[in-house]
Amino acid sequence: MDFPILGRKVHGKRLVYLDNAATTQKPRQVIEAITRYYEEYNSNIHRGIHALSGQATAAFEGVRKTVANFIGVEDPATIIFTRGTTEAINLVSYSWGEKNLKPGDEIVLSIMEHHSNIVPWLRFAKDRGVILKYVELTPEGRLDMEEYRKLLGPRVKLVTITHMSNVLGTINPIKEITAEAHRVGAVVLVDGAQAVPHVALNMGDIDCDFYAFSSHKMLGPTGVGVLWGRRELLEEMTPFNYGGDMIRQVHRDHAEWNDIPWKFEAGTSNIADVIALGVAVDYLQEIDMENVHRYEEDLGVVALRTLRDLPGVKVYGPTTMENRGALFSFNVGDIHAHDVGTVLDQEGIAIRAGHHCAMPLMQYMKVPATARASMYIYNTREDIQSLAKAIVKAQEVFSKPAMVK
Ligand code: PMP
Repeated sequence: MDFPILGRKVHGKRLVYLDNAATTQKPRQVIEAITRYYEEYNSNIHRGIHALSGQATAAFEGVRKTVANFIGVEDPATIIFTRGTTEAINLVSYSWGEKNLKPGDEIVLSIMEHHSNIVPWLRFAKDRGVILKYVELTPEGRLDMEEYRKLLGPRVKLVTITHMSNVLGTINPIKEITAEAHRVGAVVLVDGAQAVPHVALNMGDIDCDFYAFSSHKMLGPTGVGVLWGRRELLEEMTPFNYGGDMIRQVHRDHAEWNDIPWKFEAGTSNIADVIALGVAVDYLQEIDMENVHRYEEDLGVVALRTLRDLPGVKVYGPTTMENRGALFSFNVGDIHAHDVGTVLDQEGIAIRAGHHCAMPLMQYMKVPATARASMYIYNTREDIQSLAKAIVKAQEVFSKPAMVK
């Protein structure tokens, strides 16, 4: 078994890990890559002239090529390492937004965005008079594309939309969204945090302008993310953070920026974890993303049917696995999602319960919280059966009459 953690027990039960949309587990290969770096060639990159630094720099820069290849990008210099999706979106908001968004401009986003793709833009609404317009949903939980088209106009400077919802599992038609946005001259940023781990991607095919994702949701370590951007845009953008490594020359009164991607990577990078991200990508490529997607789709069909067949369980989001990930938000009667999560935890089942950093969506759906089971390559049909049994147990626990009246 490549995932050591999955061998452990929780409350005496086999761990059933169904919180992959929050973060995935790491294969031994990824964990060992971190140890190997620190044991064998730990050193700072780009600046050293000694052997260790050369080795670390080659490994670090090699991952740029690995990641570029993984998402169908030819130019590795357009891959920027960040701390995660959130920082990647903030990078775009500071380095592109500050210069390009003017009072009265509009940003189109969707009501299913994660806070990480709402809050950076709220700043522009509050401080600069930029108008945020939210695309709402069809009753099934898909983007209302007719409404989206109506929102597009000459004032729209940015369309920023999640590729896959971390609450509904909906996979949005990003290619179509991008083409429509470009027709009105808007720049397109895609939050790919939930999509990159699960579907084969090609930036050339999607044709968006920026794409952000996180290593820790795709078998890699925390603390690393990626922003891919169109070269022309990245070149004209100002840096996001200022300091070492992002400069070419510094004088007493001015400085010249380094080329992309280093212009956006100030300070010592998270070297070990970037290298380990490369190993995670190798691991996924070995399986092949088409296989990952197919496996999850099969698992999703079973999970969706199992959950929907449970009396009293309401599942949110698309009712088929078409353009949908194996991630299921649900509620069990009127039991609070946190209570469901607590009973499941006692059975060794790890799920997420709460607002999933998508409060506007919760308000739109008129629910305070949902429970969420999200799957990945190591989950099995047996895990789904364990989940179903534990949900029934939660129903039993909460249907017992109170001992004291
Ligand atoms: N966007 C989406 C759709 C997400 O699911 C998440 C993580 N829950 C994020 C953004 C933020 O990712 P990170 O915390 O890795 O920056």
